[in-house]
Amino acid sequence: MDRIHRITDDVFLVRGTAVNWILLREGRDLTLVDAGYPRDLGLLLASVEQLGHRIEDLRGVLITHAHVDHIGALPELLRRHPAPVYAHPDEVALLRGEKHEQASTWDVVSRSWRPRFARWALTVARAGARTHVRIPEAVPFPGPGPLDLPGRPSPVPCPGHTSGHTAYELADAGTVLTGDALITAHPLSGHSGPQLLPAFFTHDTRASLAALDALRGLGADTVVPGHGPVWRGPVAKAVDAARAHAPQGYRGRQR
Ligand SMILES: [Zn+2]
Repeated sequence: MDRIHRITDDVFLVRGTAVNWILLREGRDLTLVDAGYPRDLGLLLASVEQLGHRIEDLRGVLITHAHVDHIGALPELLRRHPAPVYAHPDEVALLRGEKHEQASTWDVVSRSWRPRFARWALTVARAGARTHVRIPEAVPFPGPGPLDLPGRPSPVPCPGHTSGHTAYELADAGTVLTGDALITAHPLSGHSGPQLLPAFFTHDTRASLAALDALRGLGADTVVPGHGPVWRGPVAKAVDAARAHAPQGYRGRQR
């Protein structure tokens, strides 16, 4: 099964365990955006190799936010190849484990009477969802504007899901990597298309709705989310669809 989806010649979405990571290529060099669950390490290493690269080609790792499904394989990856890890200044404390903004075990267990939920909880538990992952090496990315990394990603802060949640725009590719600020499918969701995660995953639902404006203003016509498939079309349209169907529990939702 091919887990790699080519967005452009140098931008690749890779599907892990119900979560995505992204590889950006520039010549022999790579940027990794997010890193799957702890037990996605094998898939992560395989995805680098499948593109004809080695882990030593990684020039840097960018993090959208410090949840276990996005940073799980990173400690072992960094042990093999100590690449620099960057995130929003407000996310660094979460990455270092000094603060937590993640759904609790209770949030998950209390909903497990629903079959769809129980299936998902089991899948992600096997992938290491209950591991406490810390990335002490994480540092704030320097200033606004394109970063000096393969793919020239530009941080687009969109706080709410976590305090320092950040999307990354690839202006040349007309693409935005939206992390969990805007997704396109999830095992717990009854529909596909641009949407928001269930409210209990989100630290500040009102902020996360407001932060969609930061994405809406971009010129991108390709949305590469943290969960779900690539979505093609103006990002403004994706944002409007997600807002119109904001799940229950989102404070400030329209309807
Ligand atoms: Zn996620």
